[in-house]
Amino acid sequence: MNCPLCKSEAKNAFTAMGFQLLDCASCGHRFADVPAGEAHVAATYGDEYFSGGGAGYPDYLSEAELLRQRGLMYAKKVAKFARTGRMLDVGAAAGFILKGFEEAGWTGMGLEPNEAMCRYGREQLGLTLRGGSLENFALKTFAADENFDLISMIQVAAHFYDPRGAFAAAAKLLKRDGLLLVETWDRDSFTARVLGKNWHEYSPPSVLHWYSRQGLDNFLRQFGLARVAGGRPAKWISGAHARSLLEYRLGRSFLLSLIPTKLSFPYPAEDLFWALYRKR
Ligand SMILES: [Zn+2]
Repeated sequence: MNCPLCKSEAKNAFTAMGFQLLDCASCGHRFADVPAGEAHVAATYGDEYFSGGGAGYPDYLSEAELLRQRGLMYAKKVAKFARTGRMLDVGAAAGFILKGFEEAGWTGMGLEPNEAMCRYGREQLGLTLRGGSLENFALKTFAADENFDLISMIQVAAHFYDPRGAFAAAAKLLKRDGLLLVETWDRDSFTARVLGKNWHEYSPPSVLHWYSRQGLDNFLRQFGLARVAGGRPAKWISGAHARSLLEYRLGRSFLLSLIPTKLSFPYPAEDLFWALYRKR
């Protein structure tokens, strides 16, 4: 199998959750050998992903407020580099993060493959949400002259079945000097290095790609995207979500059942990085 970023040869690294993970011999990208395509999107991000627990969410809608705050937090970071304008949130789910951006002055739309999530965001939050994934959406549905001042991908890049196609589409949809905001797992994080192949974020088939900050910078340069800022996000999740994720990895236990589901917990944010790129 060849590297989905640079097309070079890749070699087997190790297996996780029964899937083979590979490392690119040239750019170092790590990815899972999972049959890709729209069928993968449909199979992975059905309603079960947002309410079934496991690697997904036990109850996505209950995290509305935390996600809205996250949108506001990122809008504040972006404000140092651009005035508000038109944005596209990729993998928007019900649109709570987009809602946070809109409260900070942005307008735009969200893109989401799960139809139930789209419907919720449209009906309950009054957002513009379109169905689909970036990989095939850009080709089919966008008007030729459609463009954005900001495109956000909060915990989405790790899920692309075709990252080349997705980032190329994003670069095309950005205005000149437009910004791309990416938040994803950091495979060079302290916990990732300590835990090795037992790192909890090696959870295919939902997660398919594990980037390093340097690797993503190098990859995006070919699309005319240059990094202007970056860091580690603070991320809070509900107790129910934290418990569900831990049970998925460690199995159910009495100890985990003691986690209060109504409280919010800081998720190991050290495992994540965010980066802001400007289109040249
Ligand atoms: Zn590569």
